[in-house]
Amino acid sequence: MIRDVVRYPDRRLKTPAAPIGTPGPAAARLAEDLRDTARHYPRTVGIAAPQIGAMWRMAYVDCGQHKKVSDPHPPFWLIDPEIIAADGQEVGREGCLSLPDITANIRRATEITVSHTDLDGTRREVSARGFEARVILHEMDHLDGVLILDRVSSLLLDVFPRKRR
Ligand SMILES: [Zn+2]
Repeated sequence: MIRDVVRYPDRRLKTPAAPIGTPGPAAARLAEDLRDTARHYPRTVGIAAPQIGAMWRMAYVDCGQHKKVSDPHPPFWLIDPEIIAADGQEVGREGCLSLPDITANIRRATEITVSHTDLDGTRREVSARGFEARVILHEMDHLDGVLILDRVSSLLLDVFPRKRR
């Protein structure tokens, strides 16, 4: 089901989400809603549960259509993700469904490995680099109530108005 996207400055976006543990039927429904909502918005590469008002640690990532990613993973969900390795640093431009009027320059790791739970309850690891790593880190930030505005070095120099689509 396509859900409404929570927009800044809604307080839920600043609130840490709760661990899921073993995913059950409610987690499966949330996973479907995240996928459906992400697909509803053109060029969306990721969405986190708090962005649809569900305060659980789940995100959906799909970089398959993005020109900056040459060899993306198939679309996947991250449940209770933890960073277990991170390397490199790069500044890149990011947007966010919850802040539709801006983009911002954000410094992120360029290579990461994340452990997470699958929808079937299995703990797995995923490694990503470049833009896809950036997307995963952006979505994980949402689970901690952290937004791109919290990450910029300078609100004056690193935040840009976005042209209306
Ligand atoms: Zn976002």
